[in-house]
Amino acid sequence: MINFNVPPYTGNEERYMMEAVRAHKICGDGQFTKKCNQWIEEKTGTAKALLTTSCTHATEMAALLADIQPGNEVIMPSYTFVSTADAFVLRGATVVFVDIRPDTMNIDEQLIEAAVTEKTRAIVPVHYAGVPCEMNKIMEIAEKYHLCVIEDAAQGVMSSYYGMALGTIGDYGCFSFHETKNYSMGEGGCLLIKDPVQAERAEIIREKGTNRSKFFRGQIDKYTWVDKGSSYLPSDLNAAYLWAQLEYAEDIYDDRMHNWNLYKEQLQPLADKGIIDLPFIPEGCVHNAHMFYIKAKDLAERSALISWLKEHGISAVFHYIPLHSSPAGQKFGRFCGEDVYTTRESERLLRLPMYYGLKESDVVQVCDCVKAFYETSR
Ligand SMILES: *Cc1c(COP(=O)(O)O)cnc(C)c1O
Repeated sequence: MINFNVPPYTGNEERYMMEAVRAHKICGDGQFTKKCNQWIEEKTGTAKALLTTSCTHATEMAALLADIQPGNEVIMPSYTFVSTADAFVLRGATVVFVDIRPDTMNIDEQLIEAAVTEKTRAIVPVHYAGVPCEMNKIMEIAEKYHLCVIEDAAQGVMSSYYGMALGTIGDYGCFSFHETKNYSMGEGGCLLIKDPVQAERAEIIREKGTNRSKFFRGQIDKYTWVDKGSSYLPSDLNAAYLWAQLEYAEDIYDDRMHNWNLYKEQLQPLADKGIIDLPFIPEGCVHNAHMFYIKAKDLAERSALISWLKEHGISAVFHYIPLHSSPAGQKFGRFCGEDVYTTRESERLLRLPMYYGLKESDVVQVCDCVKAFYETSR
């Protein structure tokens, strides 16, 4: 059986977690949380990085920091994970969905401006598969209408757009370290903050609305309740697991990229014949091999291919059901313009096995199996 995903593991995880246990510091902001924050700050160049309990929570924090209010509108693609929308719905906002580009599955930057109204407060680009959105255009619109930009970079750790790390281009960036992502701590995430003033407020929101972080740094002699907030701080045990991954960040990146390129090379002949479509990486974009997907002709062909692969011991999966077609999406959001690509392309997309340590021979086997499907069904 070739699994779709296996959580990343580099070998030092247990040792670091035991170090946290022996240091009698297993709550948040211990040595490993600090190491991870610092590593992310150095690697991405963001002013501030704060580890969180999830990317969902990082996005909720961004919605609080951006002061999203009931009645505000937030623009995003419908082709995304629920958390992208839910973080803003929790603040009473209405979600405005915009169609995606078929080549990258990212929000179509050319359609955003038409979705801006007097109520619009933020744009939330999602970097699908770790492939960057057209951030220059998005930032230009945000500047013109004074909108906040919150990047859902859950899948975009180690990707960049014209040299800028994903998550550092907008006002806020949200990473995920869920076990299905390139780097993991089981459940976890990180909020990247551009403005140092907002960084201080973020520390307060993450610490239940208290200025406890300042207290721990010795900047004040007692801590108190100063703002709204919640508990968005992960345990140092989880951070210890993540640290073992970040230490090997380059190895994980290279390993995934090697397999991604192998998939591309093996399946290119099918794409050249017009039988399937493959991912596209726009100019100026460096991706992180988070995902390798192919696109079948339509929903029926994709379903048949999933079954075929399963019969041959290969687990391949589809992805998001567009949010605007879900009950909550209809209740809390609306689609602006026409859904030309969101539904159609989401129904064609199939994700192939991809994880750190996936064997080269397994990639070849998956590709052979895909090729055999098209040979027998033709
Ligand atoms: C994984 C993911 C999330 C949620 O991440 P969690 O850390 O599980 O909260 C949000 N958005 C996108 C695009 C994701 O892929």
